[in-house]
Amino acid sequence: MQCPDCEKHIGWDWLEDECIEPNEKFECPNCGVMLRYTIDEGTYFGAQHKTIEVVDD
Ligand SMILES: [Zn+2]
Repeated sequence: MQCPDCEKHIGWDWLEDECIEPNEKFECPNCGVMLRYTIDEGTYFGAQHKTIEVVDD
């Protein structure tokens, strides 16, 4: 997936290594913006579709 802000690649392996859960805020390792990802079950994209977004507080 890509960071929506800096468009650098963030690997799911990295998220797993950092133990970042869905809906949990984390910092983009490239630009430091606050991000969050969600998992939608059962979409057209397959069993699971992951979405990443910038957290706007
Ligand atoms: Zn970024």
